[in-house]
Amino acid sequence: MEFRLIDRIRARLSPGEDVVLGIGDDAALLRPRPGQHLVAACDVLNESIHFAADDPPDAIGHKSAAVNLSDLAAMGAEPAWALLGLSLPAADPAWLDGFLDGFIGLAAQHGLQLVGGDTTRGPRSISVSVMGWVPEGAALRRDGACAGDDVWVSGTLGDAAAALDGAGSGEHATWLRERLRRPTPRVALGCALRGLAHAAIDVSDGLLADLGHVLDASGVGARVDVDALPASPALLSCGADAAQRRAWQRAGGDDYELLFTASTADRDRIESLSPQHAVALTRIGCIEPERGMRLIDAQGAAVESPQRAGWQHFEEQR
Ligand code: ADP
Ligand code: MG
Repeated sequence: MEFRLIDRIRARLSPGEDVVLGIGDDAALLRPRPGQHLVAACDVLNESIHFAADDPPDAIGHKSAAVNLSDLAAMGAEPAWALLGLSLPAADPAWLDGFLDGFIGLAAQHGLQLVGGDTTRGPRSISVSVMGWVPEGAALRRDGACAGDDVWVSGTLGDAAAALDGAGSGEHATWLRERLRRPTPRVALGCALRGLAHAAIDVSDGLLADLGHVLDASGVGARVDVDALPASPALLSCGADAAQRRAWQRAGGDDYELLFTASTADRDRIESLSPQHAVALTRIGCIEPERGMRLIDAQGAAVESPQRAGWQHFEEQR
Protein backbone atom coordinates (compact mmCIF):
# COMPACT_ATOMS: atom_id res chain seq x y z
CA MET A 1 0.00 0.00 0.00
CA GLU A 2 2.73 2.43 0.99
CA PHE A 3 4.35 2.65 -2.44
CA ARG A 4 1.19 3.79 -4.19
CA LEU A 5 0.62 6.39 -1.49
CA ILE A 6 4.22 7.60 -1.69
CA ASP A 7 3.88 7.92 -5.47
CA ARG A 8 0.79 10.07 -4.95
CA ILE A 9 2.78 12.36 -2.65
CA ARG A 10 5.78 12.51 -4.96
CA ALA A 11 3.65 13.35 -8.00
CA ARG A 12 2.54 16.60 -6.39
CA LEU A 13 6.00 17.99 -5.65
CA SER A 14 8.49 19.90 -7.76
CA PRO A 15 11.73 20.02 -5.75
CA GLY A 16 13.79 23.22 -5.85
CA GLU A 17 17.51 23.30 -6.50
CA ASP A 18 18.38 23.13 -2.80
CA VAL A 19 16.91 19.60 -2.90
CA VAL A 20 19.71 17.57 -4.50
CA LEU A 21 17.75 14.33 -4.06
CA GLY A 22 14.15 14.27 -2.85
CA ILE A 23 11.65 11.46 -2.36
CA GLY A 24 12.67 8.06 -3.74
CA ASP A 25 15.97 7.09 -2.17
CA ASP A 26 16.72 5.98 1.40
CA ALA A 27 17.13 9.60 2.49
CA ALA A 28 17.07 13.08 1.01
CA LEU A 29 20.18 15.05 0.05
CA LEU A 30 19.88 18.73 0.91
CA ARG A 31 22.13 21.70 0.19
CA PRO A 32 23.13 23.73 3.27
CA ARG A 33 23.44 27.52 3.25
CA PRO A 34 26.85 28.85 4.28
CA GLY A 35 26.76 31.38 7.13
CA GLN A 36 23.35 30.34 8.39
CA HIS A 37 22.15 28.15 11.21
CA LEU A 38 19.90 25.23 10.36
CA VAL A 39 16.79 25.40 12.58
CA ALA A 40 14.99 22.09 13.19
CA ALA A 41 11.68 21.30 14.90
CA CYS A 42 9.21 18.40 15.12
CA ASP A 43 5.56 18.11 16.15
CA VAL A 44 3.35 15.03 16.43
CA LEU A 45 -0.42 15.23 15.96
CA ASN A 46 -2.61 12.35 17.16
CA GLU A 47 -6.21 11.66 16.30
CA SER A 48 -8.70 12.53 19.10
CA ILE A 49 -6.05 14.63 20.85
CA HIS A 50 -4.81 17.17 18.32
CA PHE A 51 -7.53 16.72 15.72
CA ALA A 52 -10.91 14.99 15.55
CA ALA A 53 -11.45 11.83 13.51
CA ASP A 54 -14.10 13.60 11.41
CA ASP A 55 -12.13 16.82 10.79
CA PRO A 56 -11.81 17.45 7.04
CA PRO A 57 -8.51 15.90 5.85
CA ASP A 58 -7.34 19.19 4.33
CA ALA A 59 -7.78 20.90 7.72
CA ILE A 60 -5.65 18.18 9.34
CA GLY A 61 -3.03 18.67 6.62
CA HIS A 62 -3.11 22.44 7.08
CA LYS A 63 -2.76 22.18 10.84
CA SER A 64 0.10 19.66 10.62
CA ALA A 65 2.07 22.13 8.52
CA ALA A 66 0.91 25.19 10.48
CA VAL A 67 2.03 24.06 13.94
CA ASN A 68 5.49 23.30 12.60
CA LEU A 69 5.74 26.52 10.58
CA SER A 70 4.76 28.33 13.76
CA ASP A 71 7.79 26.87 15.56
CA LEU A 72 10.05 28.13 12.76
CA ALA A 73 8.31 31.53 12.92
CA ALA A 74 8.95 31.73 16.66
CA MET A 75 12.68 31.24 15.97
CA GLY A 76 12.70 33.90 13.25
CA ALA A 77 13.56 31.18 10.71
CA GLU A 78 12.83 31.03 7.01
CA PRO A 79 11.18 27.66 6.22
CA ALA A 80 13.07 25.26 3.94
CA TRP A 81 12.30 21.53 4.22
CA ALA A 82 9.84 19.13 5.83
CA LEU A 83 9.75 15.39 6.54
CA LEU A 84 6.32 13.81 6.94
CA GLY A 85 5.71 10.69 9.04
CA LEU A 86 2.25 9.30 8.33
CA SER A 87 0.62 6.51 10.30
CA LEU A 88 -2.73 5.68 8.69
CA PRO A 89 -5.31 2.98 9.48
CA ALA A 90 -5.92 2.23 5.78
CA ALA A 91 -4.62 3.21 2.36
CA ASP A 92 -7.30 5.79 1.60
CA PRO A 93 -6.19 7.82 -1.45
CA ALA A 94 -9.08 10.31 -1.12
CA TRP A 95 -8.13 11.07 2.49
CA LEU A 96 -4.45 11.40 1.52
CA ASP A 97 -5.25 13.75 -1.37
CA GLY A 98 -7.30 15.98 0.94
CA PHE A 99 -4.54 15.94 3.55
CA LEU A 100 -1.96 16.91 0.92
CA ASP A 101 -4.16 19.77 -0.33
CA GLY A 102 -3.96 21.30 3.14
CA PHE A 103 -0.36 20.35 3.92
CA ILE A 104 1.32 21.15 0.62
CA GLY A 105 -0.94 24.16 0.05
CA LEU A 106 0.15 25.90 3.25
CA ALA A 107 3.76 24.68 2.99
CA ALA A 108 4.10 26.12 -0.53
CA GLN A 109 2.85 29.53 0.65
CA HIS A 110 5.84 29.64 2.99
CA GLY A 111 8.53 28.10 0.80
CA LEU A 112 8.51 24.84 2.78
CA GLN A 113 9.29 21.81 0.61
CA LEU A 114 8.39 18.22 1.46
CA VAL A 115 11.55 16.19 0.89
CA GLY A 116 10.81 12.83 2.53
CA GLY A 117 9.05 10.93 5.27
CA ASP A 118 7.67 7.56 6.20
CA THR A 119 4.29 5.94 5.58
CA THR A 120 3.04 3.12 7.75
CA ARG A 121 -0.17 1.39 8.84
CA GLY A 122 -1.43 2.12 12.37
CA PRO A 123 -3.64 4.44 14.40
CA ARG A 124 -3.93 7.79 12.57
CA SER A 125 -0.98 9.92 13.65
CA ILE A 126 1.07 12.57 11.88
CA SER A 127 4.63 13.48 12.70
CA VAL A 128 6.19 16.42 10.91
CA SER A 129 9.80 17.57 11.11
CA VAL A 130 10.74 20.92 9.63
CA MET A 131 13.99 22.69 8.93
CA GLY A 132 14.65 26.33 8.18
CA TRP A 133 17.35 28.97 8.03
CA VAL A 134 18.36 31.86 10.19
CA PRO A 135 21.51 33.99 9.84
CA GLU A 136 24.08 33.01 12.49
CA GLY A 137 23.28 34.76 15.77
CA ALA A 138 19.91 36.10 14.60
CA ALA A 139 17.56 33.40 15.97
CA LEU A 140 14.73 34.54 18.25
CA ARG A 141 15.24 32.57 21.44
CA ARG A 142 13.26 32.29 24.66
CA ASP A 143 16.12 33.39 26.87
CA GLY A 144 16.68 36.97 25.70
CA ALA A 145 13.95 38.94 27.52
CA CYS A 146 15.33 41.97 29.43
CA ALA A 147 13.85 43.96 32.33
CA GLY A 148 12.17 47.03 30.86
CA ASP A 149 11.13 45.29 27.61
CA ASP A 150 7.58 45.58 26.33
CA VAL A 151 5.66 42.30 25.96
CA TRP A 152 3.82 42.01 22.63
CA VAL A 153 1.46 39.49 21.12
CA SER A 154 0.29 39.09 17.50
CA GLY A 155 -3.31 38.53 16.37
CA THR A 156 -6.00 37.58 18.87
CA LEU A 157 -6.07 35.14 21.79
CA GLY A 158 -8.54 32.53 22.99
CA ASP A 159 -10.27 31.79 19.69
CA ALA A 160 -9.14 28.18 19.41
CA ALA A 161 -9.94 27.44 23.06
CA ALA A 162 -13.41 28.92 22.64
CA ALA A 163 -13.98 26.76 19.56
CA LEU A 164 -12.82 23.67 21.45
CA ASP A 165 -15.44 24.42 24.12
CA GLY A 166 -18.11 24.76 21.43
CA ALA A 167 -18.59 28.51 21.91
CA GLY A 168 -20.95 30.61 19.81
CA SER A 169 -23.32 29.72 17.03
CA GLY A 170 -23.68 30.42 13.33
CA GLU A 171 -21.07 32.70 11.77
CA HIS A 172 -19.14 33.26 15.02
CA ALA A 173 -18.85 29.55 15.75
CA THR A 174 -17.66 28.90 12.20
CA TRP A 175 -15.01 31.62 12.41
CA LEU A 176 -13.74 30.38 15.79
CA ARG A 177 -13.63 26.79 14.55
CA GLU A 178 -11.58 27.85 11.52
CA ARG A 179 -9.05 29.46 13.90
CA LEU A 180 -8.77 26.11 15.69
CA ARG A 181 -8.60 23.99 12.55
CA ARG A 182 -6.60 26.25 10.26
CA PRO A 183 -4.28 28.43 12.34
CA THR A 184 -2.15 31.04 10.57
CA PRO A 185 1.57 30.64 11.26
CA ARG A 186 3.21 34.09 11.56
CA VAL A 187 6.24 33.19 9.46
CA ALA A 188 6.96 36.53 7.76
CA LEU A 189 6.41 38.38 11.03
CA GLY A 190 8.90 36.09 12.78
CA CYS A 191 11.57 36.83 10.16
CA ALA A 192 10.84 40.58 10.38
CA LEU A 193 11.37 40.46 14.16
CA ARG A 194 15.04 39.43 13.76
CA GLY A 195 17.21 42.09 15.33
CA LEU A 196 14.12 43.62 16.96
CA ALA A 197 12.62 41.07 19.36
CA HIS A 198 14.80 40.12 22.35
CA ALA A 199 12.85 36.90 22.98
CA ALA A 200 10.00 35.10 21.24
CA ILE A 201 7.77 32.01 21.53
CA ASP A 202 4.65 30.87 19.75
CA VAL A 203 1.48 30.63 21.82
CA SER A 204 0.62 26.94 21.58
CA ASP A 205 0.05 26.00 25.23
CA GLY A 206 -1.72 29.20 26.33
CA LEU A 207 -0.55 32.78 26.81
CA LEU A 208 0.41 32.62 30.48
CA ALA A 209 2.05 29.21 30.16
CA ASP A 210 4.10 30.29 27.15
CA LEU A 211 5.02 33.65 28.67
CA GLY A 212 6.11 31.63 31.71
CA HIS A 213 8.53 29.66 29.51
CA VAL A 214 10.11 32.93 28.30
CA LEU A 215 10.36 34.31 31.85
CA ASP A 216 11.93 31.10 33.19
CA ALA A 217 14.43 30.92 30.33
CA SER A 218 15.33 34.60 30.68
CA GLY A 219 15.44 34.70 34.50
CA VAL A 220 13.03 37.65 34.73
CA GLY A 221 9.37 38.36 35.60
CA ALA A 222 6.52 40.27 33.98
CA ARG A 223 3.51 42.47 34.59
CA VAL A 224 0.60 41.71 32.26
CA ASP A 225 -2.49 43.88 31.74
CA VAL A 226 -5.22 41.26 31.32
CA ASP A 227 -7.63 43.87 29.92
CA ALA A 228 -5.17 44.53 27.08
CA LEU A 229 -5.24 40.94 25.77
CA PRO A 230 -6.50 41.13 22.17
CA ALA A 231 -9.90 39.52 21.46
CA SER A 232 -11.44 38.84 18.05
CA PRO A 233 -14.89 40.23 17.16
CA ALA A 234 -16.14 36.63 17.03
CA LEU A 235 -14.90 35.94 20.56
CA LEU A 236 -16.47 39.16 21.84
CA SER A 237 -19.81 38.30 20.22
CA CYS A 238 -19.98 34.57 20.90
CA GLY A 239 -22.18 34.97 23.98
CA ALA A 240 -19.66 33.87 26.62
CA ASP A 241 -19.38 36.01 29.77
CA ALA A 242 -16.29 38.11 30.40
CA ALA A 243 -14.81 35.72 32.96
CA GLN A 244 -15.03 32.79 30.54
CA ARG A 245 -13.60 34.87 27.71
CA ARG A 246 -10.65 36.00 29.82
CA ALA A 247 -9.97 32.42 30.85
CA TRP A 248 -9.78 31.36 27.19
CA GLN A 249 -7.50 34.29 26.37
CA ARG A 250 -5.10 33.64 29.25
CA ALA A 251 -4.93 29.88 29.32
CA GLY A 252 -6.35 28.53 26.08
CA GLY A 253 -3.84 26.97 23.71
CA ASP A 254 -3.63 26.42 19.97
CA ASP A 255 -3.69 30.10 18.90
CA TYR A 256 -0.23 29.94 17.25
CA GLU A 257 0.31 33.65 17.64
CA LEU A 258 3.76 35.07 18.40
CA LEU A 259 4.55 36.37 21.88
CA PHE A 260 7.71 38.48 21.98
CA THR A 261 9.56 41.10 23.97
CA ALA A 262 11.34 44.16 22.63
CA SER A 263 12.87 47.42 23.76
CA THR A 264 10.48 50.32 24.41
CA ALA A 265 12.66 52.33 21.99
CA ASP A 266 11.46 50.07 19.15
CA ARG A 267 7.69 50.59 19.59
CA ASP A 268 7.29 52.53 16.35
CA ARG A 269 9.27 50.00 14.32
CA ILE A 270 7.17 47.17 15.71
CA GLU A 271 3.89 49.01 15.13
CA SER A 272 4.88 49.55 11.50
CA LEU A 273 5.10 45.77 11.05
CA SER A 274 1.38 45.40 11.74
CA PRO A 275 0.03 46.82 8.44
CA GLN A 276 2.97 45.29 6.57
CA HIS A 277 2.06 41.80 7.75
CA ALA A 278 -1.69 42.37 8.07
CA VAL A 279 -1.79 41.25 11.68
CA ALA A 280 -2.59 43.14 14.89
CA LEU A 281 0.33 43.67 17.27
CA THR A 282 -0.67 44.46 20.83
CA ARG A 283 1.42 45.52 23.83
CA ILE A 284 0.16 43.51 26.79
CA GLY A 285 2.72 44.22 29.52
CA CYS A 286 6.34 44.64 30.44
CA ILE A 287 9.29 42.62 31.66
CA GLU A 288 10.43 43.27 35.24
CA PRO A 289 13.53 42.16 37.11
CA GLU A 290 11.56 40.38 39.90
CA ARG A 291 10.69 36.80 38.92
CA GLY A 292 7.05 35.75 38.66
CA MET A 293 3.99 37.09 36.86
CA ARG A 294 1.86 39.95 38.14
CA LEU A 295 -1.54 40.37 36.50
CA ILE A 296 -3.24 43.77 36.57
CA ASP A 297 -6.42 45.23 35.04
CA ALA A 298 -6.75 48.39 32.96
CA GLN A 299 -6.93 50.49 36.18
CA GLY A 300 -3.68 48.98 37.39
CA ALA A 301 -5.37 46.95 40.16
CA ALA A 302 -3.97 43.50 40.91
CA VAL A 303 -5.93 40.63 39.40
CA GLU A 304 -5.82 37.27 41.08
CA SER A 305 -3.42 35.12 39.14
CA PRO A 306 -4.73 31.67 38.26
CA GLN A 307 -2.02 29.07 38.67
CA ARG A 308 -0.04 29.02 35.50
CA ALA A 309 -2.64 27.18 33.50
CA GLY A 310 -1.95 25.73 30.12
CA TRP A 311 -2.04 22.55 28.15
CA GLN A 312 0.11 19.79 29.62
CA HIS A 313 0.03 16.35 28.13
CA PHE A 314 1.51 14.55 31.13
CA GLU A 315 0.04 16.50 34.01
CA GLU A 316 0.72 13.80 36.61
CA GLN A 317 4.47 14.00 35.95
CA ARG A 318 4.66 17.61 37.08
P1 ADP B 1 12.68 3.15 3.53
O1 ADP B 1 12.17 1.75 3.53
O2 ADP B 1 14.12 3.28 3.08
O3 ADP B 1 12.37 3.88 4.79
P2 ADP B 1 10.35 4.15 2.28
O4 ADP B 1 9.70 3.15 1.38
O5 ADP B 1 9.78 4.35 3.65
O6 ADP B 1 11.89 3.87 2.35
O7 ADP B 1 10.36 5.56 1.58
C1 ADP B 1 10.72 5.68 0.23
C2 ADP B 1 10.89 7.13 -0.09
O8 ADP B 1 9.64 7.79 0.06
C3 ADP B 1 11.86 7.86 0.82
O9 ADP B 1 12.57 8.78 0.04
C4 ADP B 1 10.97 8.55 1.81
O10 ADP B 1 11.58 9.74 2.30
C5 ADP B 1 9.74 8.84 0.97
N1 ADP B 1 8.50 8.88 1.77
C6 ADP B 1 7.89 7.85 2.40
N2 ADP B 1 6.76 8.25 3.03
C7 ADP B 1 6.66 9.59 2.81
C8 ADP B 1 5.74 10.59 3.20
N3 ADP B 1 4.68 10.32 3.99
N4 ADP B 1 5.96 11.86 2.79
C9 ADP B 1 7.03 12.14 2.03
N5 ADP B 1 7.93 11.26 1.62
C10 ADP B 1 7.77 9.98 1.99
MG1 MG C 1 10.52 4.29 5.53
